[in-house]
Parts: sequence; structure tokens; C-alpha cells
Amino acid sequence: MTLPLVHVLTTGGTIAGKLQASGEVAPGLTAEDLLERIPPVRNHARLRIENVFNVASAFIGPEEMLQLARRARDVLAEPDVAGVVVTHGTGTLIQSAYFLDVTVGSPKPIVFTGAMRNPMMLSDDGPGNLFHAILTAASPASRDLGVLVTMSNHIHSAQTVVKTQTSTPGAFVSREFGPLGTIQEERVYYANRPYSRLRTVMPERITARVERASPDAGSKGFQIRALLAAGLDGIVVEAQRFGDDDLKMLTDAMARGVRVVIASPYGAGRPHLGTYRHKGGEAHLVELGMIYSGSTGQKARIKLLVALSAGLSFDEIRDWFHAEWA
Ligand code: ASP
Repeated sequence: MTLPLVHVLTTGGTIAGKLQASGEVAPGLTAEDLLERIPPVRNHARLRIENVFNVASAFIGPEEMLQLARRARDVLAEPDVAGVVVTHGTGTLIQSAYFLDVTVGSPKPIVFTGAMRNPMMLSDDGPGNLFHAILTAASPASRDLGVLVTMSNHIHSAQTVVKTQTSTPGAFVSREFGPLGTIQEERVYYANRPYSRLRTVMPERITARVERASPDAGSKGFQIRALLAAGLDGIVVEAQRFGDDDLKMLTDAMARGVRVVIASPYGAGRPHLGTYRHKGGEAHLVELGMIYSGSTGQKARIKLLVALSAGLSFDEIRDWFHAEWA
């Protein structure tokens, strides 16, 4: 029997950590180095490898995400390829995974993974995570699930997964609904499916300017004022209601064509659309023309950036967001 072909794209991060002469551990291992650490993987998949970047994930922004998305799309279009694995620093892994989820429309799996402990540390989790990501990408059961994130034996949907801690291998969780599946004894098991699979939109280039604001209780509007003054095309605000000043600034911005998306500040949950009808409450905000997001503000920013860069109209953007929980 021919084993499934998995294409591994590496980008750096802690999983590729190498001891430097300075004593610092920085991305330096290649795809070849990473795979050398997991010989049993050859019993499960044929592998093709490609070093795309070798950086800490703070250096991966929307342009690099677009480059990864296009590369993954092209690789998956090859009939022989069963799936793609992307190794990535965990700092922005969630954002890159979500970027590919909203841009690459292949039924074949794209599986992101990384490491919380670098290869110099005891019980480093990188080799196990990479092994599991390859098993996940090779599994026919992983088709039609969108982009996946495999960490610490769990398989998460890019739509729901969040990083919740700075250093523990169990930092990646899907709040509210839990992971989609698990890997045990070199086998992949699924118990859930993503809530929805939406259309994907691949922009030519990243042209839009979109930022996220997170006002706290009693904030005086400095964040929103400063961001809007910078001349954004879109803003994502993580809040459930706004005071008069914020509301006026955002309403004026919408009148100038700035797209405003509101997202839950809690890492899960959807805005209340039938409950808070008072001035500045969620239902009122949507009536005013704000778009609500069913994912975190960080993911909503990625999606708005993609939508605006692709030139989607207001109605198309609203429908794309509101379909998340239709
Ligand atoms: N500093 C690293 C990065 O995001 C952290 C990690 O890979 O876990 O690249």
C-alpha cells in the first residue's frame, strides 16, 4: 500500500529552536532536522519538506500568512498530496492558522503545530506534536474540517482554538466546545466537527489596514480615538457595549466607510443579538451597522483584513461574518 504524501512547510518558532553561540535558543533547525527526530513517522506517511521561513512567529504578519496560504493552496492542488503540515511559532500560530482557514478552500487538511518547550528543554513537546500533526494530515478522516491545530495530543479547529498560557504544553484549548479529536497510539480519533464551514476568500495582496481595540471598564476612548485617527479601513472592537463617546466615534467612522466589527472579549461566545437592545448594547450596535463576529477579536481582525484586502462589499463582509453562527 502506498502511504499518503504529506507536505511539511516549516516557518521556525520554538519547535525549531537551536542553541546559538550567544547562549540564546532561536529558530535554526531545518525541516530535515525536525523530521530526523521522529523516525516512526515514516511508517505512516511519505514526506516532502519545504523550509519557508525560519523565524520567531512575531515576525510572521499578514503578508507572510498570505504567502503561506498561497503555497498551501498550490501544494494541495496536486492530486498526490494528501495534506499539508505547517510548523510555526506558537506566538502567532493561531492567527496564521485562522488566516489559512478563511483563505484556502481545499477539502484536504492543513495542520498547524508548534512547541511550547524548545529542544534544549526537558520533555520538549515539538517532536511529538510534529508526529501527531503528520498523522492528522495523513488521515482521510481529517478532510473537510478546515484548518486544524494539533498540540498536546489534541486536534483543534482553527476557528475555535486559543492559546491560553505562555509555557505549558497544554496551552492550546478550544473553549466552549472542546477539541475536534485526539491522537492516541499513533491513531487519529474525531468526536466533533467544526460548527460551520464557510466560503474562503483569497486576496491578491494585503492592502487593508485593520487593527483591534479592547476597551476596559470605564475606558475613556483613547484606544479607539487613536486607532481611528491613524486612518484605518476597518476596526475590530472587543466589547459588549459602548459608552456615548466611543459610540459616536465609531458611528462617525462607519459613515466615512470604516468597517466596524464587534467581537466577544472572552475568547468564546457570540454577541447577544436579541437581548441587549439598549443604547450601545449589542443588538443596537448591529442595528447601527456594526458587524458581529462569532470568533475572537484577534481572528476577526484577520478575517476583516482578508475581506477588505479582497475588496468585498459591506454586505458581503457582514454576510461572511454573520454566517459563522447562522
Ligand atoms: N517565541 C516563539 C514563537 O512564537 C514561541 C513559540 O514558538 O512557542 O516563535
